[in-house]
Amino acid sequence: MAEYSVFSLIGNALTGNRRWKPAWRAAAPKPTYDVIIVGGGGHGLATAYYLAKEHGIHNVAVLERGYVGGGNVGRNTTIVRSNYMLPGNAPFYEWSVKLWEGLSADLNYNVMFSQRGVLNLAHSPAQMDAYARRGNAMRLFGIDAELLDRAQVAKFVPSLDVSPDARFPVAGGLLQRRGGTARHDAVAWGYARGADRRGVDIVENCEVLGFLRDASGRIVGVETTRGEIRAGKVGVAVAGSTGEVMRRAGIERLPIESHVLQAFVSEPLKPVLDTVVTFGAGHLYVSQSDKGGLVFGGDIDGYNSYAQRGNLPVVEDVASLLLTMFPAYGRLKLLRSWGGIMDMSMDGSPIITTGPLPGLYLNAGWCYGGFKATPASGWCFAWTIANDRPHDLNAAYSLDRFHRGRVIDERGAGPVPWHH
Ligand SMILES: Cc1cc2nc3c(=O)[nH]c(=O)nc-3n(C[C@H](O)[C@H](O)[C@H](O)COP(=O)(O)OP(=O)(O)OC[C@H]3O[C@@H](n4cnc5c(N)ncnc54)[C@H](O)[C@@H]3O)c2cc1C
Repeated sequence: MAEYSVFSLIGNALTGNRRWKPAWRAAAPKPTYDVIIVGGGGHGLATAYYLAKEHGIHNVAVLERGYVGGGNVGRNTTIVRSNYMLPGNAPFYEWSVKLWEGLSADLNYNVMFSQRGVLNLAHSPAQMDAYARRGNAMRLFGIDAELLDRAQVAKFVPSLDVSPDARFPVAGGLLQRRGGTARHDAVAWGYARGADRRGVDIVENCEVLGFLRDASGRIVGVETTRGEIRAGKVGVAVAGSTGEVMRRAGIERLPIESHVLQAFVSEPLKPVLDTVVTFGAGHLYVSQSDKGGLVFGGDIDGYNSYAQRGNLPVVEDVASLLLTMFPAYGRLKLLRSWGGIMDMSMDGSPIITTGPLPGLYLNAGWCYGGFKATPASGWCFAWTIANDRPHDLNAAYSLDRFHRGRVIDERGAGPVPWHH
């Protein structure tokens, strides 16, 4: 497969862009693989890529029920950050940001990673104290963090309402300048192409219906809509479908619930917002895409669902929060909204682990935050599958932490998925 470069761009532009080849093969499944990854989202594709690149395991298939990029990887609001403070989380997410920083060059694919900063707003002195604590914890982990006062916030985000008589007056904020956004589709396509170039079969329109076991109960393959496929190891990375797929392996209960999360984009407008802003008095995050649309989202719809579309009360709630922060956007038209199925874990932190059955490996529980984790998640899951034990970076993300009481409750919200 050809390298992407400025020369190939010019060459193709001069020949009417008719010579571009598909970025990955339309692979048909082989009878046997060393590793099968169920789910061709960002995490599944990244896992296959790092299995081949870092561990020399090339005889790998990614089985995707639909098409690459059709799940949450292509539906999210693309925010990337590592502003975490707990030991289980901070080093993992910081490793992810470090991988993001080199990802376009590594994949030979422009993922448009834009380190435009992520600013969390504070609206009270108590919240400023909490952010000072978080920022200090981040710096102790070697992560960049800056505490801004109200005047600094006003200068950094001129379109924000920071007046003292605002509905929620702004006291300041915590800024991570190395955070930002990336082009979500490009991440899926870049990892798919990178994995394919290293020999991985990406099999689309191939739903996993069940799991094959040997006499000892070990998972030795999968049953799919395209027949049985055997494998030495099977990794599951299906995000919002985790409960459904693991039930097919005989695991009836997991500390995960599926909920719909909506996102919104406005009509395009000239550049008005050159960073990512999150609202501290409710739940809202907003940035401006390269095409000019404001991309924003808020809370999950609040009940279990497998629908990839949401309901109007949340549209009203999220739009009103946006206008609370930015009254100047009041005359903007909403262009589109959509939903994705979130794998909400009970402590808000993910699971990257061997098991829960022999031969099986699980990657799940990403809540609202799995896009930014894509590189580190794939890297750690590949390491875990290759070595049959977790890497130090994902050692805390075990499944048994819930019954051992070792939860990683970053937001201090307790076992309630709608608060993560
Ligand atoms: C609206 C919204 C906004 C978000 N915003 C952000 C954000 O700003 N920042 C952030 O970090 N995160 C964000 N997220 C979360 C993030 O998108 C997810 O956590 C992450 O994408 C999940 O991992 P994935 O990419 O592998 O999932 P997916 O892309 O959903 O991949 C899972 C794949 O598994 C496939 N699958 C399911 N069942 C089967 C089966 N039986 N057989 C074969 N394949 C199967 C599905 O078709 C799907 O393609 C957001 C999510 C949504 C929905």
